[in-house]
Amino acid sequence: MISENLKKIKATIPIGVTLVAVSKTKPNEAIMEAYKAGQRVFGENKVQDLVLKADLLPKDIQWHMIGHLQTNKVKFIAPFVSLIHGVDSVKLLKEIDKRAAQNERVIDCLLQIHIAKEETKFGFDESEAQELLTNLSGLNNVRIVGLMGMATNTSEEFQVRKEFAGLKELAIKLRTENCKLQTISMGMSGDYLLALKEGSTIVRVGSAIFGSRK
Ligand SMILES: *Cc1c(COP(=O)(O)O)cnc(C)c1O
Repeated sequence: MISENLKKIKATIPIGVTLVAVSKTKPNEAIMEAYKAGQRVFGENKVQDLVLKADLLPKDIQWHMIGHLQTNKVKFIAPFVSLIHGVDSVKLLKEIDKRAAQNERVIDCLLQIHIAKEETKFGFDESEAQELLTNLSGLNNVRIVGLMGMATNTSEEFQVRKEFAGLKELAIKLRTENCKLQTISMGMSGDYLLALKEGSTIVRVGSAIFGSRK
C-alpha cells in the first residue's frame, strides 16, 4: 500500500523537487516500508518523535523538522536534523545557530511565512522576514535556504494557488547576495499538485502516502 502510494505520487513530482514523506504519528514499520521503496527524506513535527525515530531507523535517512519548534528543544535535534522548515522567530534562529555551532555543523533552515487567511501564531509576514534577512550577521552556523508556507485549508483552488504564488514571489523579492532563497517548501497531500504548478521545490506529503491519521 505505502509503496504503491509513493510510486504514484513520485510519478507526479518533477525532477529537482524533493518529496518529504511526512511520517508523524506513524510507526517505524510504516517508515521502513517507504524506506524499502527508496524513500530517504522524512518529516516529523514533534521533537520527541523525531529523536526516537532517528535513533532507531537507518542512518542514511534525512530528517526534516516540519512543525513548530520550541527553542528549548533545538538541542535535541541539532546533531542530525537536515532541514528545519518552520523557523518563525529570530530567537529560534539564534538558538539553532548556537546549537549547530556546538555540533560543528551548519543547519539549513526555511523561514515560515504566514500566507493563509486563517489566523495562526506562527510565521513571519513580509516585513518581518525582510528585517530578519537584513540583520543576519554573526549567524555563521545557520543557512537560510528558502521559505515555507501553508495555504488556507479550502477547496477554493484559486485562493490556494494565489497564496502559493505569493510565497514564490516573496522568495524572489527577498533574496539577497547571501540568501538566494531557492528552496520553496509548499504543498501537502491535498494541495501539492497546485503547489508544484506555482513553483514548489519541496512538497510535504503525509496522509496520501501513509493513510489518514487519527
Ligand atoms: C502534517 C503536516 C503535513 C502533511 O500533511 P498531509 O495533509 O497529511 O499531507 C505537511 N506539513 C506540515 C507542516 C504538517 O504538519
